[in-house]
Amino acid sequence: MLFRLAANTPRFEVFRLLNEELLYFLEQSVASDTFDRALFTHENIGDACWDNVPTREKYEGLFNALQADANDTKLQLFEVMTSNQDLELFFENPQRNLFDFMSQPCQEKLKSLCTHLYCSTKDLAPFIRASAGLNITGHFNAYRALNVNGNICKACGMKELATFRAGVPEGDQWRADYDHQLCKSKYPIFAVHPDNLVPLCDVCNQDAKKAKDLFKHSNGTERLAFYPYVEEAKGYIDIEIGNLRDPEPIIKVNWNTQDDSILGKLDTWDEIYEIRSRVEGQFRSLEAIIEDEICPRDSAHLASRISDEARPPTIGTLKRKEWVFWYQKLFCALEQIDFSPFIEKWNFVKEQGEEGGEFILSGA
Ligand SMILES: [Zn+2]
Repeated sequence: MLFRLAANTPRFEVFRLLNEELLYFLEQSVASDTFDRALFTHENIGDACWDNVPTREKYEGLFNALQADANDTKLQLFEVMTSNQDLELFFENPQRNLFDFMSQPCQEKLKSLCTHLYCSTKDLAPFIRASAGLNITGHFNAYRALNVNGNICKACGMKELATFRAGVPEGDQWRADYDHQLCKSKYPIFAVHPDNLVPLCDVCNQDAKKAKDLFKHSNGTERLAFYPYVEEAKGYIDIEIGNLRDPEPIIKVNWNTQDDSILGKLDTWDEIYEIRSRVEGQFRSLEAIIEDEICPRDSAHLASRISDEARPPTIGTLKRKEWVFWYQKLFCALEQIDFSPFIEKWNFVKEQGEEGGEFILSGA
C-alpha cells in the first residue's frame, strides 16, 4: 500500500461472522462422521448457512471430500485455519503451501465453498440480518468516510474508490470492489477473513493485481509484502527528473531506502499494482504537465507556481484528491533542479504554438 489503512478502519461484520462460522464448522467436523445441523453454530449466521440450500450444499461437498481423504485431514485443516487467523503475523512469516497435505478433490471443494461464501452469501438478506443489518455498501461508506480512510485508493493514491453522486442516498451510492490481499484461489481460507478484504480502485484490483500472489513472484521466487494495516510505501519514494536538455525529460520513480527488507516489499508492491509504470506513464510529458497544471505566464510565474505545488498537501486532500501525492513529489523534484534549459525550450515551444495558432486563424 502507498498509504496504510486507518487505525479505525471498520471490519465488515458479515465477513467476520462467515469466517467464524467456517472455523466452527471445521472444528465440529473433526469429531463427526455425519453432515448435519450440529456442525453449525446456534447463532443466526449458523441458521443462515444451514437454511440457504446452495451454501449448505457447498459445506456438504467439503465435508464429504474431507471424509474420503486421509484420517487426519480434517484436524490438519482446522489447525491450519485456526493457527493463521492473525494476518499481521502471517504477513511476517507467510505459509505459501498451506494445503499440500490435502488431496486435490479436497482442495477443490474448499476453494468452491470459500469462493461461494464470498461471492454468493454476503448480499443475502438472512446473512445481513444476522450481522446487525449492515450490508456491504454500508460498510464501504463507513470505510471511505473522511475521518477514516477517505475516497482515494490506498494502494496507488491515483484513483478515487468510487464516484460520489449528489442527491443519491448513502445506501444507493456506488462502491468499489473489495480486493482479497491474499487471493482466494491460492489462500481460500482467507476468502472471508475480515482483515483480508480491502476496497481498492478498479485499476489496482481489476487491471493490475488480479490473482497475483503477494508472497510468490510469477517466476516462483519467494517475497514479502507490506501488511496494509501497519506498513506503507509513502516514505520511501523519490521522483527523479533526468535529461532536462533532451526533447523529452525522463521522469522516474525511485526507492530512497537501503533497507533490504523494505526494498523487497516496495518491489512486491510495485509488481502487484504496476506503480512505477503507471506513474511514469502519467508523467511521460513534463511539458504537458506544466501546461495542464500551471499554464505559466513567464518564468517567474512558473517558479513561484512550482514552489506552491511542492508544498505538502493536507491529510484531508490526500484522502479526497486523485494523484495529489504523486504530483507533489514531482513538483518537489522540479523545485530542486536547474530549470533554465527547460524554460528556454518551453518558451520556444509556446511561441511555435502561437505562430501555428495565428497561422490557422488567418485561414492561410
Ligand atoms: Zn488503486
